[in-house]
Amino acid sequence: MHATAAAPAEEWGAEELLRDMLAEYRGRIALVSSFGAESAVVLHMVAGLDRSTPVIFLDTGKLFPETLVYRDRLVAQLGLTDIRTAEPEPARIAAVDPDGTLWRSDPDVCCWQRKVEPLDEALSGFDAWITGRKRYQGGLRRSLPMIEHGSDGRTKINPLAGWSLADIARYFAEHDLPRHPLSAHGYNSIGCTTCSRPGAPADDPRAGRWVGFDKNECGIHLPRVAPLSRTLQP
Ligand code: SF4
Repeated sequence: MHATAAAPAEEWGAEELLRDMLAEYRGRIALVSSFGAESAVVLHMVAGLDRSTPVIFLDTGKLFPETLVYRDRLVAQLGLTDIRTAEPEPARIAAVDPDGTLWRSDPDVCCWQRKVEPLDEALSGFDAWITGRKRYQGGLRRSLPMIEHGSDGRTKINPLAGWSLADIARYFAEHDLPRHPLSAHGYNSIGCTTCSRPGAPADDPRAGRWVGFDKNECGIHLPRVAPLSRTLQP
């Protein structure tokens, strides 16, 4: 029985859905992970089903060194064999963000250059991708379905959509998974060094992202409409 057939996806457990989707999209599906505060859960689930599943890691060039250490630790511990790092084009960054301060004046364009475009390129050839988003993260994620069909023709699978913070904590404990080193320092959502702050409440973890801006998504989960800015012109 397929999660996309008779039963609505919401009736499926996270691992059940993942098993089904990995089989249905074999060779055409990737997990996209930030190796952030809660990433270990879905990474662990996918590794338990198929360690060779491609994992796309977006390295913006502005990540915490702790994230890179944590990525290496998790990859080794979980036995993942196909990590693909997506990075922005150095020439592009040199042209539009030569001093690395674009995040301060135009974070939408910065995310577009450092995240959206590199991810779109990395997803080329895949028909489906897996994310670790949850509804309790708020904002647009409040109504997140377990399966989405994007305007780009790709299927997006969100196996943890309905999970609570307690579910995440329980999974970490049950499987003895290591926490991101910055979790102990109050970071509940961890992205770039410049755009992540500690101290956000646990039930609104993304409040620590892009503080001072009217922004709570980097753009990789939004429809692809390039932000209007002169900085996009070469
Ligand atoms: S999170 Fe901040 S630094 Fe990172 S790509 Fe987006 S705007 Fe730029």
